[in-house]
Amino acid sequence: MVNFFKHAPVRDTYQKRFLEAVTHRRNVIASFPLGYPAVSTYAFASMLAGGLVVAVCPSSRHIRRNLDYFKAAGFKFPDVAYLDGTQMPHEERAVEKEVNHNRVRLLYTTPERFTSLTFLEILVHSQVNFMVIEEADRFLPVTPGHALYHRFQREGLDQLRKLPPLALMIPPMPPSRFRELSEILDLGAYHAIQCPPLIEPVGIQVRRMMTEHQKFTYLADALAGHPGTGKLGRLDGPGATLIQTAYPAQAEKLGASLLDYGFESVWITHYKKTLREQAHVLDVANTRLNAIVVNAGSDMRAWLPPFEANPRLIFWSPPASVDDLFMQVFRQAQSMQDSYGEQHFMKGLVLYTKEDYQAAIRRLQSNKNLDDHELDEKLRVLKHYRRWVLSENCRLQSLAAHYHGTSTIELPPCGTCDRCQEKRSARNGGPMWRKWLQRWFY
Ligand SMILES: [Zn+2]
Repeated sequence: MVNFFKHAPVRDTYQKRFLEAVTHRRNVIASFPLGYPAVSTYAFASMLAGGLVVAVCPSSRHIRRNLDYFKAAGFKFPDVAYLDGTQMPHEERAVEKEVNHNRVRLLYTTPERFTSLTFLEILVHSQVNFMVIEEADRFLPVTPGHALYHRFQREGLDQLRKLPPLALMIPPMPPSRFRELSEILDLGAYHAIQCPPLIEPVGIQVRRMMTEHQKFTYLADALAGHPGTGKLGRLDGPGATLIQTAYPAQAEKLGASLLDYGFESVWITHYKKTLREQAHVLDVANTRLNAIVVNAGSDMRAWLPPFEANPRLIFWSPPASVDDLFMQVFRQAQSMQDSYGEQHFMKGLVLYTKEDYQAAIRRLQSNKNLDDHELDEKLRVLKHYRRWVLSENCRLQSLAAHYHGTSTIELPPCGTCDRCQEKRSARNGGPMWRKWLQRWFY
């Protein structure tokens, strides 16, 4: 058992709190920092549970990674088994037989397999202690990959007359998202386990500007290396870049301007292109070191630049919310770490003009698909985003605090964001003057 704790000795309280919650048959929502394997939290509890525990992972790849974890701790089939649709029929029968004889303690599956009749039958006939769902944030409609989990809920979870206690594993998220998740799944009471997000491999810079022209010049300089160090129209080094824009015409225009300026390997993608075209751009982004992808609304969640690339995520227009910004930047750092096994520094750059902000408000107001309540909510989070852009605090500190629903958090300043760098260099003008200027121009 000691093996379970060796991976993260400092954080073993999560495992204890998790164990306590499932022993009392309570629902759990647990969020984990970047690079922290969710499996290490529920592994101990599921081996002790004394009945079947079912764990749902988004893909077979996730399952393999978790099986390795158990193998390293000395557990193998039939203690830990899986049914994900990749096995031969005789292998599946062997797993089902062991489940029927109550010899399997933890059974892994995917959402697709879960919704199949044979799997639902297993659930009906065995006593399930609790059910773990990894990447449960996909139940939220705002999260990419939602469709898969939506179907999983409708055709799987909803088909069961009585659900066992659920343990939802999610990345760091604000408390309001915990509540939203519990409402979507109709959890009623739940026990929350939350930890501060690991912010080391992420850097965020915010640049406020007056005009589109300034913004473009800044972007071109940032891509080429700052003036003097790089050539115009050439990237300064391996730098896989994803630029998020607000709508397809904007993506097309920005992409064309970058090409005109002399940048090569510029790729434009957006939700109006065919799925095949979108998949092709994603493929290019995942194989070339210097691809610059300009995107508007295409699902780039599977963006995984080559190991040698220094990924950059640039927001040309305001993201929908601070949540959205946080999830994109931190998730990217997480997937690089998960795939390559070490921390990759993830650069986030947010470009901001007052004009962009006002255009975003106008787009929301003219959106006929939103009812009054939805419009109010979207305007509220957009205003909150502007306040975050204008705030004087360290960017990463304030993002982490936001995720805990507090105004401050005990974390050292990151030292790399625009606010931390300003504090280091001498400032011109007093704070009052700066504040006045900000409110007026941005
Ligand atoms: Zn900072």
